[in-house]
Amino acid sequence: MTNAIVTGGGSGIGSAIVDRLKADGLNVAVLDLNPPDAEHSYKADVSDREQVEAAFAAARADLGPITVLVNAAGVDGFQRFSRISFEKWQRIIDVNLNGVFHCVQTALPDMEAAGWGRIVNISSSSAHSGQPFMTHYVAAKSAVNGLTKALALELGPAGVTVNAVPPGFIDTPMLRKAESRELLGGTIEDHIQRTPVRRVGRPEDIAATCAFLVSEEAGYITGQIIGVNGGRNT
Ligand code: NAP
Repeated sequence: MTNAIVTGGGSGIGSAIVDRLKADGLNVAVLDLNPPDAEHSYKADVSDREQVEAAFAAARADLGPITVLVNAAGVDGFQRFSRISFEKWQRIIDVNLNGVFHCVQTALPDMEAAGWGRIVNISSSSAHSGQPFMTHYVAAKSAVNGLTKALALELGPAGVTVNAVPPGFIDTPMLRKAESRELLGGTIEDHIQRTPVRRVGRPEDIAATCAFLVSEEAGYITGQIIGVNGGRNT
């Protein structure tokens, strides 16, 4: 049986990915700052290498080698560029970019040993379009897209695919919090009217894309940035 780790699997998009991969027959472990009270859930801050290594070691001991990794843990931030403190800038980069670095490096030995692996990085459609007041977040997510492309070239010969899914406007606690703080430039309903498919995205939309990318069938897809955004970015 294939064993997967989903970071950020305690909420929103990550949680939907966990449910979908389980439904598809994978053994799935959750790594999150606040993991659910469930089997195979491990507490770790993805920006902390020691915590990541400890959580992976515990997951390996419980499940066996991990050959699927979905990096969904992330934090957003809204601040005029001139007012972003370096500490805040660093934290956004630490979680969204360096977290991917730590988790991929920690996961890789099992994939290389198996000669097979799947890595999916959840970036952001804001890396496509840019987004005012989110320079730190957009910089981090753009770097995740770049890392994805470069790593795919390195790992292809080892049987490991690496792809990114940049979501656009998905109805999760992160999006609802931003709406309630009036940080979205309108309500979710306003944005729906500007979205070609005329609805907000669902975590399950991202989960379905991830489920395909980690499947055997997707073995010829690597280094791709697969937008799931209702046509908001093309
Ligand atoms: P969410 O509901 O806030 O879920 C994010 C999860 O990641 C939470 O469980 C959170 O834990 C966890 N997390 C945050 N920092 C962490 C850390 N340092 N270490 C480990 N876990 C951490 O947000 P979401 O909307 O599902 O977002 C999932 C991913 O999609 C993120 O990478 C986000 O940037 C990306 N994304 C979302 C949208 C959207 O429209 N929703 C659009 C573009 C990109 P806590 O709850 O304890 O903080």
